[in-house]
Amino acid sequence: MKRNVVLKLSGVARHYGQGETLLTILKGADFTLSSGEMVALVAPSGTGKSTLLHVAGLLEHPDGGEVVVNDRPCDGLSDDKRTAIRRGEIGFVYQFHHLLPEFSAQENIMMPQLIAGLSWKEASERAKMLLDYMRIGHRGTHRPGELSGGEQQRVAIARAVANAPSLLLADEPTGNLDPETASYVFDALEALVRQSGLAALIATHNHELARRMDRRVTISDGKVVDF
Ligand code: ADP
Ligand code: MG
Repeated sequence: MKRNVVLKLSGVARHYGQGETLLTILKGADFTLSSGEMVALVAPSGTGKSTLLHVAGLLEHPDGGEVVVNDRPCDGLSDDKRTAIRRGEIGFVYQFHHLLPEFSAQENIMMPQLIAGLSWKEASERAKMLLDYMRIGHRGTHRPGELSGGEQQRVAIARAVANAPSLLLADEPTGNLDPETASYVFDALEALVRQSGLAALIATHNHELARRMDRRVTISDGKVVDF
């Protein structure tokens, strides 16, 4: 498989507050992620994992440096363009599923596709396929509140990849699950990444899962470093 650079961070800076309360989180962070690559982001709480993922996912602007997604520098772009890239090329999974409680699992997975302009039929067929792929085909009509934590996260992963993004960012996606369920959910996530050639950056505290990825990085002194 040909590998393309999907995400490139160059000299990314991010701080919060100002003056005496200035908190520098990222300080010239560089990071490159290619298609088909699965990288673990392992760092203690409060070091900036979520900040890094939000900047990479175009949810926050960096205070300095550059975020390039699929060869496109994103920082000078309008909010509309950034949103379009985020919806079409980036999937995001959170620690807590953030599914819409009033909609079924299948409808939650259809939502981003409908927003992207697919027909109801196309969206529902792809949602069913993703539910089957995540081995929860039988749960499609259930609302999130009727699903277990592991099932909810598998729906959230399916939703994140519903529009076939090239970049998957996951912020402690199994952090809220018991070890056995975490491993099961990670199996599904890994299979999906391997099969689709996605580039994935996954924050986790779980060293066993981190070992299963291609590379491990951490945040040290505001920079992304291999370890
Ligand atoms: P992690 O995900 O590794 O736990 P975060 O990226 O969430 O770390 O946060 C890094 C640091 O930045 C923490 O000290 C946090 O309190 C601080 N922080 C995060 N977001 C904000 C914000 N919007 N305003 C002020 N401080 C923030
Ligand atoms: Mg975090």
